[in-house]
Amino acid sequence: MYDVIIVGAGPAGSTAAKLLAEKGFGVLLIEKFKIPRYKSCSGILIKKTLMLIDRYFGESVPESVMCEPVENKGMIFTNDKGKEYRFEQEGRNIWRSSFDYWLVRKAEESGAVVRDDTIAVSCEEKGNFVSVRLHGKKADIKSGTQTYTEEARYLLDCEGVACVLKQKIMKTVPAYITTYQTFQAGTIDLDPHYFYAYLQPELSEYDAWFNVKDDLLVLGVAVKDTGKIRHFYNEFLGYMKRYHNLKIEEQIKSEKWLMPRIRPGCQIDYGVRHVFFAGETAGFLNPMGEGISAAMESGYQAACAIADHFDYLDQVYAAYGQSTENMRSYMQRQWSLTGEMAETFQEMK
Ligand SMILES: Cc1cc2nc3c(=O)[nH]c(=O)nc-3n(C[C@H](O)[C@H](O)[C@H](O)COP(=O)(O)OP(=O)(O)OC[C@H]3O[C@@H](n4cnc5c(N)ncnc54)[C@H](O)[C@@H]3O)c2cc1C
Repeated sequence: MYDVIIVGAGPAGSTAAKLLAEKGFGVLLIEKFKIPRYKSCSGILIKKTLMLIDRYFGESVPESVMCEPVENKGMIFTNDKGKEYRFEQEGRNIWRSSFDYWLVRKAEESGAVVRDDTIAVSCEEKGNFVSVRLHGKKADIKSGTQTYTEEARYLLDCEGVACVLKQKIMKTVPAYITTYQTFQAGTIDLDPHYFYAYLQPELSEYDAWFNVKDDLLVLGVAVKDTGKIRHFYNEFLGYMKRYHNLKIEEQIKSEKWLMPRIRPGCQIDYGVRHVFFAGETAGFLNPMGEGISAAMESGYQAACAIADHFDYLDQVYAAYGQSTENMRSYMQRQWSLTGEMAETFQEMK
């Protein structure tokens, strides 16, 4: 029996696993894909994320996970009236699969047992512990996969956006935004050191964006209705051609993903009895997909609360809620600022 089973080896899960294992707790970290796993992302580590990595992992992000241009100088937003807002700050440009792999290896080095290619199917409270149903390959079976259970005092659910376990536990279906981005060989008249977000309603139902990764031009749009992806993406390409001299030579790849749709009030779900939530599963996500810092910080705070109050469930909840209070109000302020900038986000004001 483990002390804590953590589901999801993203930034929330790996950060929590590292802290708990370091403190001597028995941790099982479950990941449904083979690691390093792929995750659609713009791959910008903002200054806050870099600071959290130094604090939680005791070292800086290694160069091996970075892509060109390594230095990100901040974000440039264009609002629905065409007005530009510049947010200058030092950041880094990384490939998510390599970055998340580095995080998960750090958790493993600290003593967490990592089991990839294994999906958490369901979980059940049994008195003072949780039984988790898993499907995958176990170390003690020679070949093939099987369904089996593992038990722990607590389950920390860091599944990210799809959060199947959370949906089963809470019997609710979350609202989503669909993201679509392409990687293009080509040229453009924009500074590759910035991340550009466009909030004009004719370009997306949420935001459209541009950044550069290892000489590839990344162009994306986010929509509420997936049937409108093609329309908005074509509008956005037209806009970038007209105003920024975009010239495409060849499309290298495209990808579709999901993002939680944050609603007014920025509701956070901390957990249900012995099952806690962190990262996007809990509802932590700052505007324009800035979610890595929120995932790491909430994973860390959930782990601290469990470690400090292991035998007192109510105190775990109280400590987790208190230590993330500043994050919550920061998140609300950031979404409200976005609501001031563009009509698309008016409900968030
Ligand atoms: C297009 C796009 C661009 C983005 N750009 C940025 C950016 O530049 N900077 C930034 O900070 N944020 C960005 N974000 C947001 C950021 O990616 C997320 O907020 C962040 O990854 C959330 O971390 P997490 O640990 O909560 O979840 P995730 O990173 O999604 O990790 C969850 C993990 O759980 C696993 N999992 C899920 N269900 C199960 C299960 N049942 N059993 C086992 N494993 C399971 C998944 O495979 C996954 O590995 C972007 C998001 C998108 C969609």
